[in-house]
Amino acid sequence: MATHWLERPLRPRERVLAALAGAPIDRPAAVAPTSIATVALMDEVGAAFPAAHRDADLMTRLAETAYTRAGFDTIMPVFSVVQESAALGCAVEWSDQGNWPTCHGYLVRRAADIRIPADLLDRTETRCVLDSLTELKRRYGDEVAIIGKAMGPWTLGYHVFGVQDFLLMSVDEPDEVRRTLQVLKEVTVQFANAQFEAGADALTLPDHATGDLVRAGYYRDFLLEIHAELCDRIRGPLILHICGATEDRMPYLRTAGFAAFHFDSKNDVHRSVELMQGRCRLVGNINNPRTLFRAGPEEVREEVRRCLDAGLTMVGPECALPLACPLENLRAIPETIVAWHREASAGRHPRNGAGGAPPGAVPGR
Ligand SMILES: [Zn+2]
Repeated sequence: MATHWLERPLRPRERVLAALAGAPIDRPAAVAPTSIATVALMDEVGAAFPAAHRDADLMTRLAETAYTRAGFDTIMPVFSVVQESAALGCAVEWSDQGNWPTCHGYLVRRAADIRIPADLLDRTETRCVLDSLTELKRRYGDEVAIIGKAMGPWTLGYHVFGVQDFLLMSVDEPDEVRRTLQVLKEVTVQFANAQFEAGADALTLPDHATGDLVRAGYYRDFLLEIHAELCDRIRGPLILHICGATEDRMPYLRTAGFAAFHFDSKNDVHRSVELMQGRCRLVGNINNPRTLFRAGPEEVREEVRRCLDAGLTMVGPECALPLACPLENLRAIPETIVAWHREASAGRHPRNGAGGAPPGAVPGR
């Protein structure tokens, strides 16, 4: 099977949207569906945690570094996982420049006690995201893919009940967990659609039903149907994000209707490509703790090449980037994609002419 790279160069936004749709592209895209904020980037542009989680100007200034300093094809301004949980009333520790915010304690004990505030989208933490997306769209709308982020109901369950209690409940009272997910999915739909209206081109939907915490059957029984409903009701392409080991649930999640799955380096790239059967694109899966954080650009380049050789059309960090990651390691991702593609076009890779799935060959979602 021949690989058909488009001869016409695409702008980063077009490239990412085409890659998400499984349409032909000029070269693979550098895509970061989760945060790439680092302490070094915060210092460079004078926009630091924790203020950058709740101030739209700072959020915008820090987010745009993904494109302006790191050279990615995407900008994603939602650095934390607690924006909508804070808006729901969960107690949040906003922490400091070198640490992510976290929810602590619990908000309710029963699904029936969850109240979605009428002004959910006008609370400081949600409004900030919407305003930042509007501004990013104004600045980069034609050029760069603007990506939003809204948590799925499983992750919101962790925040509203506390991780431990939510997981215990999934064993002891599965029906109560189902009721919880039915209520909380409305938060995901509201926040996600508002982000598309504000200017997002695509949206990351983290829902941490990871193999490190729950079995694959949990994904099938609790989440698959809800995720399919989210894909129908949210008005734009979605990138599901689940960290950790997920190969055992890929046969389920590939059927939900997501444009792409953002996957972790704990999963084998070749096997993951096979498991997805072209029904859902893959994005990732450069290791964070070992490679991007502790190793150097050479190790990053090796991993990027391994992903590209396996047929990935979107490469980026596997999850939110460690805050102390050196900028040169992050920059090595887009740089290597460009170098790899130049060699591929010159016929120095097996993908150009033989083997591997061509970027345009997978069916749309
Ligand atoms: Zn993650």
